Amino acid sequence: MEIKAHAKLNLTLDVLGKRPDGYHDLRMIMQSVALADTLTLEDNASGQLRVSTNLHFLPNNDKNLAAQAALHWWEARGEKPRGLDITIEKRIPVCAGMAGGSSDAAAVLRALNARERSPLSPAEVARIGERVGSDVPYCVLGGTALAEGRGEILTPLPPLPRCWVVLCKPEFSISTPALFAKIDSVRLRCRPDTQGAIDALEAGDLTGVARRLYNVFEDALPDRQRNRVADLKNTLIQCGALGASMSGTGPTAFGLFDSEDRAMEAREKLEDFGGEVFLTRTV
Ligand code: ATP
Repeated sequence: MEIKAHAKLNLTLDVLGKRPDGYHDLRMIMQSVALADTLTLEDNASGQLRVSTNLHFLPNNDKNLAAQAALHWWEARGEKPRGLDITIEKRIPVCAGMAGGSSDAAAVLRALNARERSPLSPAEVARIGERVGSDVPYCVLGGTALAEGRGEILTPLPPLPRCWVVLCKPEFSISTPALFAKIDSVRLRCRPDTQGAIDALEAGDLTGVARRLYNVFEDALPDRQRNRVADLKNTLIQCGALGASMSGTGPTAFGLFDSEDRAMEAREKLEDFGGEVFLTRTV
């Protein structure tokens, strides 16, 4: 069985505060894009769960989120682990704020569910995904959604009007736990207008959404990295993006375009900067 695992972007990302359990309460608008990993699941007779990917530095054991998803699936279903080969062709940049690992996990859950004689509802599959990671429930559902709590409380939103997305993952990576630890001590300059963005989605107003792209984690980046992300965003805007922001805990910067020509120009310009650059669509 072959299945796509789509990357996500944060149209907005707000941190509301730290909870007694150590997690943060978030409020963010998520959007899936066509950029995707491809997973192939194949039964094997060895009885083992095996994972392989085209990236040598990713775990090829139970630490891979795709394997964890399968293990949680069988546990939730009260079944013993079965012989399964998961092959992942990664295209989503790693440690980029685009939920690549969570999306692979969600794809495995969807694939295993699809093989069931009486499949679970997407919401039930999402609940199993919660055991793997906070972004997994969203990745199970996909599309445009408001995510709250740790990211697992989901409200579907009207889809973002069709547009082109140019994104660039600079050559450095960001440690998500380190940035979450830092966000508590940073004075946030500004907060996203999440409700305004939801209103714009409801009105089908792409420009209204693009004007409200905002991610509080940009304020928590170390200076050099913040400047690099700001340069990327400025380039996107100069090339005609309707708005630009950073996804997740970064460092991927992206811009939304209503013109394919301008999006292609932006991609070319960003390729001169280095890093991994993609031109994609929302899904
Ligand atoms: P998020 O946006 O959810 O914070 P991210 O895009 O920043 O995620 P990922 O690329 O999903 O980060 O994953 C980063 C970490 O997860 C890496 O340390 C990587 O080794 C580990 N990992 C485990 N399984 C996978 C997988 N299938 N794909 C990518 N990373 C994986």
